[in-house]
Amino acid sequence: MNEHDSEKMQNLLRIAGHEYVDNVHDADIVIVNTCCVRQKAEQKFYSLMGRLRRIKAAKGTILGVTGCIAQMEKNAIAEKLPFIDFSLGPSSIHKIEEAVSEVSAKNRFLDFSENGSGHFYFINPETVSAGIKRFVTIMKGCNNFCSYCIVPYVRGREASRDSSDVLREIEDFAEKGMKEVTLLGQNVNSYNIGRDDISFPELLEKINMIEKIERIRFVTSHPKDLSDELIECFGKLDKLCEHMHLPFQSGSDRILKLMNRGYTAGEYKEKINRLRNRCKNMAITADCIVGFPGEDDKSFEETMELIEDIEFDGLFSFAYSPRKFTVASTLPDEVPWEMAQKRLKLLQETQKSITLKKNRSMEGAFVKVLVEGFSRNSRQDLAGRTRTNKVVNFAGNEEMIGKSIDVEIVKGYANSLKGKLKVTGENEGRYKC
Ligand code: SAH
Ligand code: SF4
Repeated sequence: MNEHDSEKMQNLLRIAGHEYVDNVHDADIVIVNTCCVRQKAEQKFYSLMGRLRRIKAAKGTILGVTGCIAQMEKNAIAEKLPFIDFSLGPSSIHKIEEAVSEVSAKNRFLDFSENGSGHFYFINPETVSAGIKRFVTIMKGCNNFCSYCIVPYVRGREASRDSSDVLREIEDFAEKGMKEVTLLGQNVNSYNIGRDDISFPELLEKINMIEKIERIRFVTSHPKDLSDELIECFGKLDKLCEHMHLPFQSGSDRILKLMNRGYTAGEYKEKINRLRNRCKNMAITADCIVGFPGEDDKSFEETMELIEDIEFDGLFSFAYSPRKFTVASTLPDEVPWEMAQKRLKLLQETQKSITLKKNRSMEGAFVKVLVEGFSRNSRQDLAGRTRTNKVVNFAGNEEMIGKSIDVEIVKGYANSLKGKLKVTGENEGRYKC
């Protein structure tokens, strides 16, 4: 979401006549778009600001801070970082040009307007090249108040964007060459709930009918709101990719309750079963937190059991980080840092071997790869993703970029797959998603 917010600001400034450079030393204006979901990001931000302060002192660079840390600190940010010129919360990023103009006129500009307002700024498709794949925001904010999470406090209450605007944006980008769209929101499953507009599954159906779109993805889903109607969409809508990112956070019912997640580990597993029954090649990825206050050996063991039982295709795992405003930051029984790190390491090692096993099981299968560009490591190779969101590198030619290419998987690694071009006419039964 932050990445997309950065893109929105970059686009607005480009329209206003500024040019993007990728080196702070060459820039007249430096904008730091921030995240405060975990403390580590916050620490990195403050040390970066120390470095930027020196550059500003030497060159007179205009310095702005946007996003969640700005919102969290509000006016205190100007006291903590007296050298910054402007600061905007996540709901005010559309004011970026105004901020830059004010600063150019020697006025400091601070705006932390209330979150959750109906305002949605989105990129006008006429002003950018579409690219092969894009994010499209369908909602913002969050009402869930998971006890560890700062997002509802800095991004405000949940608000859905009108489906007519979402569909127009996707259609316009599709006309300009976009093949894959990822619908973006903190909890896309509750899109339009309580509003007089179409539901999330209905939105997927409408996007599925847009001719030039080849792939549809979405992030993120909340297990408690994952409906049967949405599960039914998999396998029914041909463009909907067989991948679900469904964070579970903990395998312990006691911890899930303390986290205010609204489901049990059993209910989570049951939803995964329903997804897999609906679509056997479905890839499942998730987020989880270790070291939440009160997590004892038994509850950690339950998390490990869930991981081994479900066998996720990939997992983002984090050590719990206490956050301002949140209920969890006041809970007793903190887990010592060393213990949380030890558990995290064990969990990540276990997951790594599961991912590797799953990727190796793809060897010999055929997949359709939407080619995104050259591989990171070599311009001899192309890189793209399967419908299940696995990265595939294979030798091919430049004309294949932007196309769906049939590839045979020859090797599975921990983070990617190696493929080769499929020879026409080979056994069609070996296709996987
Ligand atoms: N709305 C999404 C994403 C939220 S933030 C969702 O609900 O899934 C992304 C991930 O960061 C969360 O899923 C959670 O695993 C992690 N996270 C959030 N707050 C955290 C905290 N205080 N400490 C550690 N991890 C956290
Ligand atoms: Fe945070 Fe929970 Fe909302 Fe996700 S659903 S953004 S974890 S409060």
